[in-house]
Amino acid sequence: MTQEKIITRFPPSPTGYLHIGGARTALFNWLFARQNHGKFILRIEDTDRARSTDEATRAILESMAWLGLDWDEGPYFQSQRYDIYNGMIEHLLSIGQAYHCHCSPEELEQRRKEARAKGLKPKYDGKCRELGLGPAPGSVVRLKIPQTGVTHFDDLIKGTIRFDNEELDDLILRRSDDSPTYHLAVVADDISLGINHVIRGDDHVNNTPRQILIYNALNEPLPRYAHVPMILGPDKTRLSKRHGALSVLAYRDMGYLPHALLNSLARLGWSYGDQEKFTREELIEKFSLTVFNAEKMLDLNARYIRESSDGFLAEKLVPFLEQMGFKDLDEENVLKAIATLKARSKTLVEMAEAARFYFQEEVIYEKKGDNKFLKPDVLVLFEGLSRRLKKTSKFDQADLEKIFTVFLEENEIKLKKIAQPLRVALTGKTASPGIFEVMEVLGKEKVLERIDKAIAHIRAKV
Ligand code: GLU
Repeated sequence: MTQEKIITRFPPSPTGYLHIGGARTALFNWLFARQNHGKFILRIEDTDRARSTDEATRAILESMAWLGLDWDEGPYFQSQRYDIYNGMIEHLLSIGQAYHCHCSPEELEQRRKEARAKGLKPKYDGKCRELGLGPAPGSVVRLKIPQTGVTHFDDLIKGTIRFDNEELDDLILRRSDDSPTYHLAVVADDISLGINHVIRGDDHVNNTPRQILIYNALNEPLPRYAHVPMILGPDKTRLSKRHGALSVLAYRDMGYLPHALLNSLARLGWSYGDQEKFTREELIEKFSLTVFNAEKMLDLNARYIRESSDGFLAEKLVPFLEQMGFKDLDEENVLKAIATLKARSKTLVEMAEAARFYFQEEVIYEKKGDNKFLKPDVLVLFEGLSRRLKKTSKFDQADLEKIFTVFLEENEIKLKKIAQPLRVALTGKTASPGIFEVMEVLGKEKVLERIDKAIAHIRAKV
């Protein structure tokens, strides 16, 4: 099977300069196309005649050229493509997927008010849907959308996103002044230009179901969508002018090299190990659209857990422990347990699960460990250890280590001989934090209790 050629696009609205958020979107589309030996198309979305300016168009083209984001086709201008849009609207009308609507803005407002008063959604009530009306001055064309069901798509970055069709309006495709609407123009262009990957800011997520319904009405295959999280400023709000220079050309004028900006933009939302600098070729080769890498996030989470203070983690962990049924836990004890577990837990759930044996009244032996390690040959050792531990008043790791050194010498055994059986006796498992750490956290009383229980358990076996 031959692979479909990847075709991406960057469609800025020329209502201002190209800001760095837009440049990042352009870069992602460009990288994705270059990486896949596909095509990158530039389209100027200038249907908003009042706000679009030639100057902004020039600034966008200049910015793209300065960054070296070359395009394979275009720039197309939406203002020059009305024939395509009108053709598509007529087609939708002819196949019964769209209809003329004669409701005036005043009537609509009145009905919306009434709907609100009744506690209903103030959306278009479908009055003209089935009337079979023709065009008339001041009328609009609307899309006939399904009134029930769900519209969903699998976003390459965000996963599955669903919208109830009930929430959506019979959206307008052509306004009363005969101009096509934004959604219609975008879909008509994306279809006619063969775009199969739409990579854009996640401020467009809400537009996507509306656009998908147009594809569906036309029986056209959907592009793949990838909605990239917006760039945030240091204060975690959406990047805006008050965060400093935003336009690409402002960076040029401040004396930045284009590749430095490109490199920084690529790394907003994407990373490759700890590598900070990438050549243009490396970016193309290594860039991954699946910005949100679950495995990487798990590793990162493990790292954050490892580097957090025990107190901070305690606050986060206690709700998980409570959910497992452990109430009124001793704070000191929780902190000690965390210290032994934080280097070995990737999530809080994992940590809570690993901490279970500390707080549980009764140890539950895992079958494998029980069979392999809790055997009569350790009875003498357990009894001897129990006697020895009863005599000590200090129970921290350092003391325990000393006690063990002597104990092992006296019994002429290696730590290995007793460590695993003891681990199973104390934790029920064959893997746990270091045995001395475990003993210190459990405390003398519980350790002795659990050794006694293991002794009884082994005796009961024979
Ligand atoms: N013209 C839109 C914008 O500048 C982009 C639309 C799209 O990517 O679908 O935000």
